[in-house]
Amino acid sequence: MKWRVLIADDDSLSRRMLKSTLERSGYEVISVEDGSAASAVLCEADGPRMALLDWMMPGLDGPAVVRAVRVRRGMQYVHMILLTSRQSKEDVVAGLDAGADDYLTKPFNPQELRARLRTGERILHLEDTLVQAREEMRYRATHDALTGLWNRGVILELLQREIQRGKRDQHPGGVTVLLADIDHFKNVNDTFGHAAGDNALRRVAKHLTDSVRNYDAVSRYGGEEFLVILPACDAKSGCDRAEHIRHTLEITPIASGDIKIPITLSIGAANSAEWPALEAEALIRKADEALYKAKSDGRNRVIISRPQGFGQVRSAGQLSIA
Ligand code: GH3
Ligand code: MG
Ligand code: MG
Repeated sequence: MKWRVLIADDDSLSRRMLKSTLERSGYEVISVEDGSAASAVLCEADGPRMALLDWMMPGLDGPAVVRAVRVRRGMQYVHMILLTSRQSKEDVVAGLDAGADDYLTKPFNPQELRARLRTGERILHLEDTLVQAREEMRYRATHDALTGLWNRGVILELLQREIQRGKRDQHPGGVTVLLADIDHFKNVNDTFGHAAGDNALRRVAKHLTDSVRNYDAVSRYGGEEFLVILPACDAKSGCDRAEHIRHTLEITPIASGDIKIPITLSIGAANSAEWPALEAEALIRKADEALYKAKSDGRNRVIISRPQGFGQVRSAGQLSIA
């Protein structure tokens, strides 16, 4: 890969010498004449990752550029080398304290310059590897490996937050949770094999994600069990959504290679506005009770758990109340 290096120097001869040395070493060079321009280029989203900054420049001096770049959060690390004709220890310490990674004294030795840049490359490479590893770990800690959905821990936190937000914003509809479990999934594995079962889980996950709004959340809650959070969604709308999910899956068997696997879902629902005293886990337990009832009533149906005195939720299809 060809690294881009920024050169900032107000002396045109010095700039040209640096540029030709770097280009001969295979770097792509961007050169500017003052500190303000250097800072602007380095702070661009796709700016160069390495910089050679003269100490004395009009506008911002080298250490000031370094400071300006370092206070920018969230951007990729920039390896900055100060170029200075100063050699006093105090100056060097001040430059490094400002956040510079390295320094070179002028007149520079081309071989030393190249060696320092290679050191910079190694550091940036290490940095990129660490950032990538951190991102992968973050993904794995929050997502289910098979389906790519949120995992159980994340969805619980999301639900707690949504319930709180619903109360704070006094949204009258509250949050509806849906607990969906694939019917007789063991038979799917037994009949079509585990790989086809895995494929069916991924397809059901996609079906759920495609069936909700983009501010809803879908998670894999257990083996063949999915939890869906519908914020700002009252019981009636929540049941309509669940019924739609159930019905559209029922009428579209999942294709796995040459075979078609019929899949149905039993769904238990509960709505936070109807259960205002319940926290996230207790609300999920209500949805689970309704799911249990859906299973015992014959599967492939939606049931909502409502407090006593609440009537039947009117919705199309096989929907009833726990
Ligand atoms: P019910 O209608 O009562 O829910 O019946 P069921 O067979 O779906 O339920 P049960 O709990 O008896 O079995 C769940 C099955 O789901 C058994 C298990 O092997 C399967 N399963 C769980 N996780 C995975 C997975 O990641 N991949 C595959 N292929 N199967 C899985
Ligand atoms: Mg099941
Ligand atoms: Mg199950």
